[in-house]
Amino acid sequence: MHEYSIAKELINTLLEQVDEEKLSETTGVHLEIGELRIISREALSQAFKIITEDTILSGSELKFEDIPLHVKCEECGFEGGVDYDEDFSIHFSVPVISCPECGSSVKIVEGNELAVRSLTVSDSVKDD
Ligand SMILES: [Zn+2]
Repeated sequence: MHEYSIAKELINTLLEQVDEEKLSETTGVHLEIGELRIISREALSQAFKIITEDTILSGSELKFEDIPLHVKCEECGFEGGVDYDEDFSIHFSVPVISCPECGSSVKIVEGNELAVRSLTVSDSVKDD
C-alpha cells in the first residue's frame, strides 16, 4: 500500500521533530500535498491513525493543503500553471510536463511536494 509507506516515512520525520522540540503533545498535523502527488487522502489518514497509535502523535488530526502545480520554463521564461494529462499517474510517478508556450520541458517549482507544514501543539501548559 503506497499511502502506508508514505505515512510511515512522514511519521518518522514527525517523531524526530517532536523529539527535537521536546513536545509533549500534538493535536494536529498540517500537510502540504502537491497537485502532482497522487495520494488517497483517505488511505493516508487511515494509515496515519494506525501507525501513530501508541506514539505521541496519536489522536492528532491530519489536515491537508493542496499545492497547485507551478512550473518555470528556462527556455522562454514562462512561469505559471499548466494543464497536463491526468493519465500520467498511471504510468509515471513524475510526469514530464511541457511548456505551453514553447514546448520545452519545464522545471516544476511547486506541485510535487509532500511535506509537513506545521504541527499543532496543545496550548495547555503543564504544572510541575
Ligand atoms: Zn517555454
